[in-house]
Amino acid sequence: MWRRGRRNARGEEIFWRNCDVLEFWAFLVAGVAMTGDPQMAAGGRPSVFLDSAEAARLRKEIRILPWKRDLYEGTETTSPVWRRVAKPGPDARRWLEKDIVIPARGGHFHHFFCECGNVLTWPKDLQPSPEGYACTACGRVYKGERYDAAVRREMHMALAQGALNLGLAWQVEQDERFARKAAEILRNYAAAYPGPHTGIVEGGIIYQSLCESMWVIPLAAAYDLILDSGALTEKDRTDIEQNLLRPCAKGLMACGTDGNWGSWHLSAVGVVGYAIRDRELISYALRSFRDQMADQLGDDGLWPESVHTYHFFPLQAFLYLAEAARHNGEDLYSLEERPGKGLRAMFRAPLEYAYPDLRLPAINDGWWETWLPGQFYELAWARYRDQAFRWVVEQRAKAAGRLGLWPLLFGEDLPADAPAPPLRSRNFPVLGIAALRGPGGSMLTFDYGPFLGHGQLDKMGVTLHARGKLWAADYGTPGYGSSILPWYTGTASHNTVMVDGSNQERTSERRLTLFAGGPQLEAAVAETEEAYPGVLHRRSIVRAGDGFIIVDELQSGKPRTFDWLFRSEGAMSAVTSGPPAESELVLEHVAVEKSLRVSGRVSLSWRQGEDELRLNLFCDDTADVFLARCPAETAARQVEMIAVRRTGVRARFVAVLTPVSVGEDLRVSMCGDVVRIRRGNVEDVVTLGPALSLEPATDARFSLVRLVSGRPSLGALVQGSVLRWRDQLLIEGPVRGWAQKTIAPEP
Ligand SMILES: [Zn+2]
Ligand SMILES: [Zn+2]
Repeated sequence: MWRRGRRNARGEEIFWRNCDVLEFWAFLVAGVAMTGDPQMAAGGRPSVFLDSAEAARLRKEIRILPWKRDLYEGTETTSPVWRRVAKPGPDARRWLEKDIVIPARGGHFHHFFCECGNVLTWPKDLQPSPEGYACTACGRVYKGERYDAAVRREMHMALAQGALNLGLAWQVEQDERFARKAAEILRNYAAAYPGPHTGIVEGGIIYQSLCESMWVIPLAAAYDLILDSGALTEKDRTDIEQNLLRPCAKGLMACGTDGNWGSWHLSAVGVVGYAIRDRELISYALRSFRDQMADQLGDDGLWPESVHTYHFFPLQAFLYLAEAARHNGEDLYSLEERPGKGLRAMFRAPLEYAYPDLRLPAINDGWWETWLPGQFYELAWARYRDQAFRWVVEQRAKAAGRLGLWPLLFGEDLPADAPAPPLRSRNFPVLGIAALRGPGGSMLTFDYGPFLGHGQLDKMGVTLHARGKLWAADYGTPGYGSSILPWYTGTASHNTVMVDGSNQERTSERRLTLFAGGPQLEAAVAETEEAYPGVLHRRSIVRAGDGFIIVDELQSGKPRTFDWLFRSEGAMSAVTSGPPAESELVLEHVAVEKSLRVSGRVSLSWRQGEDELRLNLFCDDTADVFLARCPAETAARQVEMIAVRRTGVRARFVAVLTPVSVGEDLRVSMCGDVVRIRRGNVEDVVTLGPALSLEPATDARFSLVRLVSGRPSLGALVQGSVLRWRDQLLIEGPVRGWAQKTIAPEP
């Protein structure tokens, strides 16, 4: 089947067809003549991640800028994923002392985990250990080939990184020993390479073609960095190109361009292509990059898997390719394969997805401890000159320092005075997550979307960040080898409603029926009938100022058990009492500490330092309440949770979440559809539906009247036309999405 292609850099249209991969290869070879040559540097080396002018500038900067010198040879740190982050200078010097021995094929990183969810201890010399490897948390020891292979993989990664660092050290210090040692690594790999990947976990020198891609990129860059050093003979060059780099890249081409693996495959092919100046490889990489931007990046600018890991993971790969291309006259930074779909959008969208402190909500699979990656934003600032990107670099530099390859090569001396960009509430419709932001910096994420790649059974789940702290969290996943993985992917570990004690089904719905509002009042409403077939669940999130009201309405044809689940960071205290519960909450990994039967309101709070998150929950009938502990980001750390159980064919929960200072006077009440939240002399009166009362009267779906000392000071509505308070008309006009009006104080 033939389909229309895209235009290449010269505006010529490229055609290709969907076919099996081997055919595709053959076609590509023919395709080169048709598409014209890709841009490629003709001159000297290096020409992949650096050119000679940039190398000269880098030498100078390392001499005169202390922070840049520190990036090159300062003390080393450990990344959140438990790896030593090698600084090029000391790492290169360490390799100078070592004989280069290439280990056998490496295994799988995610096998190097304890059943408790924590990583095992990497041996210091990265040599397989017959004594085995102890868990970093519980001390349990694991031994055997599965774990040895994971260690060998780590050694392959260290060797590739070592080669790159040696290449950088050669460029910076111009000491030939560095180039010769890098050459030794490349030469030994050319001799030891067992042949390319023939499938995603077949062939190659590392188990996964994904890891093989991550391994070959620094090797290819190292090759480019030392090519003009004299350390490689003509025969070395031929061996390295013919027996290592080209076959490896061709193997990766055979592994496809789907998802984030595809991003790494195509980027590795491109970086190798630029390093060995192979037009076929470059053409393939550029074409595949355009395809991924057009077809695989979401229209909302986010990678449609978990953002905190799988958005930046492909972006990380693309940046290697974009830099290699840029050094060869090809600009991938400004390429927009479709409007709003390109690298710029991939940098921009996460700004509005991140919490105010730039931590990323760990929704879906991926590491819990994840922040906007400052080192990628160094390139975003360098290439786009957008102040918002400079702000990210400065914020992350303040919090975590500057780290990694890109700030070393292209980071600038920054005054740390970029203004914070205005961030607004935003819906990400492809991913199916809405982020609601309050004027005082609170932010709630609402995951109403379908089950996508690396998804979890977390439909309708929320997370909450307020007063500079994360409260209700999604804990992502521990390592994939962890035995409690099902806890993290299941429904019970999320702040949603669980039906009949079982996991949700995977869903394909994106039924966000309302997302509207202004600065002080905002609402998002979504529904699902797929999470639990036969059950309609509507969750409405109403934000009034920096507080949130979560309304759950559940309806079923037959009696069900509905468990409303919520957990938060901080120490929990409950001011709720009642007779013993009539049922039991039995969930694996959940330890119930107290259970009681409550009619009316449930009140409790979680405290962190001088801040508190207060929860006031109103049920439509008597409920069983369970106070419990459950795993946080690992089983070793626990957080305190509440489950509130209602049974029947329908249930309604109204939860009012208010971030406050410890000891602050807060009163929350509910009568019919009117919720009143009073803090000192300020009271927010929120309606959850049209109200015929006097205080207030409205036809709106949701409304807010803010009273100061009993007098209206602000009115706001979502989907309505009129809002009155007693005899005072606050808002009137045609039906609107939302409106907000400040009311002048009475004289
Ligand atoms: Zn353990
Ligand atoms: Zn989750």
